[in-house]
Amino acid sequence: MRNHPKLNSQIHFILGLVCGQMKSKNFVNYLCSKYADRVNPSSAFFRCKRPEEPAKNFTYKFTWPDNFSVMPGWVEAVSHPWKERWFTLEACDYCDDIFAECTDATFMDAWLPEYSSESGGRNLIVIRNPILNKIFKNIHENVHITSISAQKLINSQEGVIHQKRMLSVLHKKKHTQSLHLPHIRKNGRPHFADTLEAWTKRRIRNVTQTGISESIPELEARIQKIKQPQNILRKPLRFFNRVRKLGNILLCRYKLKTNI
Ligand code: SF4
Repeated sequence: MRNHPKLNSQIHFILGLVCGQMKSKNFVNYLCSKYADRVNPSSAFFRCKRPEEPAKNFTYKFTWPDNFSVMPGWVEAVSHPWKERWFTLEACDYCDDIFAECTDATFMDAWLPEYSSESGGRNLIVIRNPILNKIFKNIHENVHITSISAQKLINSQEGVIHQKRMLSVLHKKKHTQSLHLPHIRKNGRPHFADTLEAWTKRRIRNVTQTGISESIPELEARIQKIKQPQNILRKPLRFFNRVRKLGNILLCRYKLKTNI
């Protein structure tokens, strides 16, 4: 827009979404094969509300030209392959922009306990442009807007933040230089649990990247195998992390007591 005055004069605001990953069309075909024994639906909806259910328990809806449709639910069907990064695009492993940082406003779901029981769901908005801020403050019809603390907003996206920080542990400086990849921000020294999770999810992304070349049960069995080390080590790692945290707390208390 800086280089093209026409674009600059026509685009007034840039709006973004909080984003942790994007799936390829193979994700849709995987769900369709599994729950409808068909592929390539003619329409796909990714957020159908269930009026009696909490906001998180929404469904997808895939329809074919003969009006046959299937509605896999988020909780029972979609969340696992989603969170484990099945069929995620490779670019998303090299992107650490969670809050669409360069936009005038960023929109996101309000995944906070106080709103989780509502079926309609709520949105949070980060507004960075004072003109947009004025516009939003003057909207009163059908919209109810209140302020929320930055910390609460961060808490509402802790799943995405964890994913991005965890994946950053696989990015070595040498690696990013040789592949011309962007520098990924890191958050302190990685824990073994994060490295193992990142390694597992990277492998799952790799095997699902080119589509579905086998039957669904075969694919699921292959992914289950990749997850095995993480499944075996999950409990000991959780225990180790608790011990480490307790050790840190005791060390802090000791230092405070002895004034070190
Ligand atoms: S590259 Fe980044 S912004 Fe784009 S879809 Fe992937 S995670 Fe989202």
